[in-house]
Amino acid sequence: MKFISTNKNSNPVTFLEAMRKGLAPDGGLYMPEEIPVLPDSFWSSLKELSFNEIAFEMAKPYFGEELSDEKLNSVINDAFNFPVPITPVEGNNFVLELFHGPTLAFKDFGARFMARLFSEQARKDQQEVTILVATSGDTGSAVAHGFYKVDGVKVCLLFPKGKVSNLQEQQMATLGENVTALEVEGVFDDCQRLVKQAFIDDELNSKMQLSSANSINIARLLPQSFYYAYAVSVLQKKGIEMPVFSVPSGNFGNLTGGLLAMKMGMPAKHFLAATNVNDVVPEYLKGDQFQPRDSVQTISNAMDVGNPSNFVRIKYLFGDSDSAIRDQITGYSYTDEETRETIREVFEKFSYLLCPHTAIGYRASKEYQTERGMKIPTVTLATAHPVKFRDVIETEINQEIDVPDRLKVWLEKEKKSTTIGCDFEGFKEFLINRA
Ligand SMILES: *Cc1c(COP(=O)(O)O)cnc(C)c1O
Repeated sequence: MKFISTNKNSNPVTFLEAMRKGLAPDGGLYMPEEIPVLPDSFWSSLKELSFNEIAFEMAKPYFGEELSDEKLNSVINDAFNFPVPITPVEGNNFVLELFHGPTLAFKDFGARFMARLFSEQARKDQQEVTILVATSGDTGSAVAHGFYKVDGVKVCLLFPKGKVSNLQEQQMATLGENVTALEVEGVFDDCQRLVKQAFIDDELNSKMQLSSANSINIARLLPQSFYYAYAVSVLQKKGIEMPVFSVPSGNFGNLTGGLLAMKMGMPAKHFLAATNVNDVVPEYLKGDQFQPRDSVQTISNAMDVGNPSNFVRIKYLFGDSDSAIRDQITGYSYTDEETRETIREVFEKFSYLLCPHTAIGYRASKEYQTERGMKIPTVTLATAHPVKFRDVIETEINQEIDVPDRLKVWLEKEKKSTTIGCDFEGFKEFLINRA
């Protein structure tokens, strides 16, 4: 299977090549040349299969000769080793809890799958690869954990010193082993500039194999289709068919994963694009132009995106047809006040805690049902563990929430980071001599 750029101006490449490049040379995002449709017999008997069996069948067509079944199986079994519960919260409203991985957010699915594929690639090339990541918080910790102790891969994380949350800092800076954390005396833009400069520095690139792992990487997108099919399988066991999926969205990678599953034949009735006030996509879905703009800060900050990069992938999946997109996806957007109200109400009525991102998705599910029929089954994707947003939630529900032990452990670990200035020469020397 070949992967082409959404800008249609780069050479087709294999999955692992697309992964290594990250962005296509023409600035587009990689997508499969054709979407493989799995047979009806697979989709109608999902309920017989485990999460990892479903993941295997969905991933296999993308790799062809590039990865043996045995390797693919071991990547999958290694990557997805945590539970994915579906909780019925109210009536036909289900919540798919994607936050039971090591960093308590759905980004663990993409990061862990990609990390193990990079390891396979390094083994094939017989060359160690160093992944550079500039981060302002959550992505860095998911990526760092994804790669932690994975053979053949080193990770170098750069984050602005003193400008990430305590928990994020602890989750990035205490790992050690193959993960190096650099606290940069500057802002996030400085981190990003250092990484970009490293990729174009000849000397550095002759000495080491550098790669990136940013959120548009195809290897992070693909695994985000697996859990939609898994949700369908669990609902099949309850006799429920064709759910509506509600996806709290920022950069729209998660929603794109669901649409990819649907294009592969997964039975789904409809998709909801749920955002905070950064509502470029919901506005487009109502009939406006797609009009990127500066992002606004909200309490669901992982979704504060003003120019969602995966929008071009959604266009690609629907052959550029605006009407086809609008038939399949409905947009909803909510203010911080509405988000807080939903957190409060769902806790008071059902004793169920939603993180601010998930609350937006949940509210969209309810609104859709109110408009189209209360019996329609909905699945809201829960993107982060509520405890990650303790401050916001405790204010709303007026009580303290328990911090799981596995999180407490982080806060007590010893930091192993190094502080560097924001000049490139210092960073380069560090990479050559110490990383
Ligand atoms: C990244 C993130 C999102 C947004 O996901 P996209 O794929 O960028 O749309 C939503 N919620 C949480 C908690 C996240 O970390």
